[in-house]
Amino acid sequence: DERTVLEFQITLYGDGERLLMARDITRLHRLEEMRRDFVANVSHELRTPLTVLAGYLETYASFADQLPPRFARGLGQMQEQTTRMQNLVQDLLLLSRLEIDRSGSDHAPLDMVRLLESVKRDAEALSGGRHTIRVELKEPRALVGSEQEIRSALSNLAFNAVRYTPEGSHITLSWRPGPDHGAYLEVVDDGEGIDPVHVPRLTERFYRVDKGRSTATGGTGLGLAIVKHVLLRHDARLEIDSRPRQGTTFHCCFPATRLEGETSAT
Ligand code: ADP
Repeated sequence: DERTVLEFQITLYGDGERLLMARDITRLHRLEEMRRDFVANVSHELRTPLTVLAGYLETYASFADQLPPRFARGLGQMQEQTTRMQNLVQDLLLLSRLEIDRSGSDHAPLDMVRLLESVKRDAEALSGGRHTIRVELKEPRALVGSEQEIRSALSNLAFNAVRYTPEGSHITLSWRPGPDHGAYLEVVDDGEGIDPVHVPRLTERFYRVDKGRSTATGGTGLGLAIVKHVLLRHDARLEIDSRPRQGTTFHCCFPATRLEGETSAT
């Protein structure tokens, strides 16, 4: 690939003078591509061995009652950690696919009622009745996008709300009108909130507020990075509004160009 990649920077000075700077970032760009491909290939290659491991562990686990307790416990931990690795590899693969494939996937008007209700059911399963989860639909138009990607973004936000809020918290999945004729897809919780110092870095890969706790909750550290990339591919942006001890809202702001159907007359 012989393309040259240039980066331009224009500086405006008070007296009306301008400075234009061009930088050749071809090598940097190429390195970045290599990093992405490498991560994608490694994740892909790790999938098969992990599937084999998980398969055997499951078979052995069905004989766990015949093992000395110490071994049975070890087997349980092996299964748990294998599942964690599988989730991590799956998220890494998804993230690198989102980064590599710039063309975007199939886009169609999504059934928002079905989508929100189905993510709500998955979140309820994860919560096991410890949270009150509801769906709010105030936007009649449909979002035009990739069902798989939007579902994965919404699930990540909803699962985080379950994982990082205390028992008894309320979670709302909402689809409502937004500014400039756009719409908001939101996940609102009334949990502990996030200290403002962390908020700007949350969408970085593997960035965690509390490392020990996040690992215990089963997160991969890639959830919000995935959300950010899915939104980028849908011309949308993520806004995080969090107040310590009051809760957190993740707003996904979609522009009007991404919506289809009638606005309700009311
Ligand atoms: P992971 O959950 O795997 O650690 P994420 O990228 O999904 O990775 O989230 C990054 C961090 O953001 C989490 O570790 C957690 O500390 C914080 N976080 C995410 N959602 C919430 C929420 N609803 N309330 C409080 N903290 C949250």
